[in-house]
Amino acid sequence: MRKIAIIFGVTGQDGAYLSRLLLKKGYSVHGVKRRASSLNSYRIDDIYSDPLIKKNNFFLHYGDVTDSLSVFNLIKKIKPTEIYNLAAQSHVAVSFEIPEYTTNADALGTLRILESLVKLDQKIKFYQAGSSEMFGKVVETPQNEKTPFYPRSPYGVAKVYSHWITINYRESYNIFASNGILFNHESPLRGDTFVTKKVVKALCKIKYKKQKKLFVGNIYSKRDWGHAKDYVTAMWKILQYKKPEDFVICTGKQYTIKQFINMVAKKLGMPIFWKGKGLNEKAYDKNKNCIIECKKKYFRPAEVDTLKGDYSKARRLLKWKPENDINSLIDDMISYELDTILK
Ligand code: NAP
Ligand code: GDP
Repeated sequence: MRKIAIIFGVTGQDGAYLSRLLLKKGYSVHGVKRRASSLNSYRIDDIYSDPLIKKNNFFLHYGDVTDSLSVFNLIKKIKPTEIYNLAAQSHVAVSFEIPEYTTNADALGTLRILESLVKLDQKIKFYQAGSSEMFGKVVETPQNEKTPFYPRSPYGVAKVYSHWITINYRESYNIFASNGILFNHESPLRGDTFVTKKVVKALCKIKYKKQKKLFVGNIYSKRDWGHAKDYVTAMWKILQYKKPEDFVICTGKQYTIKQFINMVAKKLGMPIFWKGKGLNEKAYDKNKNCIIECKKKYFRPAEVDTLKGDYSKARRLLKWKPENDINSLIDDMISYELDTILK
């Protein structure tokens, strides 16, 4: 039987990688994008072709997970076999600025898809993009599928709602609905305001004298960073498993933001040294020019200090493991940035 996927959030980092993966596997892929006043599809432009010019298996539709009618009508029209809900206001810091919208999209958006699915076709498989931010102020390390949640932001709280409503619909209607609990994953296609992309982009520009300084926030929080390419494979495997279950996807290794910055600088052949404490901590280049400063603006009202996952369940049941480590991730991100800057 032909597989037909709907990806809500197709224009994002993961949507772009997942689309490529599913097309390679022979799926018809229907991406849902929001209308914007300027084009926001640069991550998928190379796989999309206007059906009036050349037909392929990748289709785009306007829709929004805050709009129940568009969600329902798209599922009714496309008749998918799988739905991936990647749509979200995905920035933790921004979720403190727009908490109501974040909740509408990241929590109720999931409910809208599930409710439509249940009304239209209970055989459709559903993937929910959960986040390690749900663990928040962690109660144990490493975090696994049984670790209780303690979210620390409107984003984290909204994702906890989505996690449980997915389980509730699975148990209530006997549908194939699974949660991925994905730890931070990055790539050359990561949004510009997430810390890894911001650091890699800025240090590459500083190296080639196209930028003078980088401003960051808390450099002592620790994250378990993987590569988005590996993580979309996990999403797909989660929906191919014999029954719906929830899975932690991570690398099991963690680094501070400061360590990440140091690794990027080293790979760029830009020795830096740090001086000062707290908000006065700064990094200098070999000529003693200050190139990194910490600013209060980039600190969050409540921080997630440490995240480190345990992917034993995914390894055992899905035969999944990350193919990339922090080194190959940074290499990939640097190489993309340098190509862009030196073009
Ligand atoms: P991303 O790059 O921010 O992409 C989010 C996508 O959702 C974009 O296509 C965005 O569209 C779309 N979107 C936002 N609001 C929407 C709405 N109201 N209706 C329809 N679409 C909407 O995020 P990502 O890194 O690819 O992450 C994918 C998913 O995994 C998200 O749900 C995120 O919260 C979750 N997640 C990510 C990570 C990570 O480290 N990357 C970790 C755990 C979980 P626009 O392009 O128009 O903004
Ligand atoms: P998150 O884990 O989903 O919040 O991913 P981010 O990449 O946005 O942030 C990861 C960590 O980096 C958090 O602990 C932030 O507080 C910290 N951080 C430090 N400086 C910055 C910054 O300038 N921008 C962002 N986005 N995060 C920063």
